[in-house]
Amino acid sequence: MLIKTIPVGQLETNCYVVTDEKSLDCAVIDPGDESNTILDYLEEHKLRCRAVFLTHGHYDHVGAVEAVAEETGATVYMNRLDDAEERRDPHFPFHLPAEGEYYGDGDSIEIASLRFEVIGTPGHTPGGVSLRCGEALFTGDTLFRGSCGRTDLVGGDMEEELRSLRRLCSLEGDYEVYPGHMDSSTLARERLFNYYCRAAMNL
Ligand SMILES: [Zn+2]
Repeated sequence: MLIKTIPVGQLETNCYVVTDEKSLDCAVIDPGDESNTILDYLEEHKLRCRAVFLTHGHYDHVGAVEAVAEETGATVYMNRLDDAEERRDPHFPFHLPAEGEYYGDGDSIEIASLRFEVIGTPGHTPGGVSLRCGEALFTGDTLFRGSCGRTDLVGGDMEEELRSLRRLCSLEGDYEVYPGHMDSSTLARERLFNYYCRAAMNL
């Protein structure tokens, strides 16, 4: 598994390209902006994008979804609760196309040898999810290095956010954490040093 981080847009959203190196099939997580940069990377490495996964529906995570999906033919996955039709708020501009699929807690999607498991992690948004693939945990705006996502926007809920952090921190073993913004981390580090994780574990 090869993970490429491409920070995109004004808020430097982390778009991740996760590739099965044998088949060169890949998934793109949160193509928030700069579709050309993302598509150039796919083309340069001859990658076949099979899926676009959204961790949540905020505008800074969805800006290049249509362009990437149209160009590659990838299936788009998101949680229904963050769909524009459901939320009706300008922070949630994306409506899943007919050929897309809604996903949620407990679902898993296979891309060649990679298996992505969906963990429902609401709080930052109602439809927020994290994705577990091998030793990697893509946490969107639920868990950041040393912090967590804000809950003061429409649909945010701090109690839910803490429950979601508790759930992530309760996963057995260690994971490399790839958040929606800023640097990556490890779950072990966050369990120890992240104030919100510590508070969540003590609930
Ligand atoms: Zn967000």
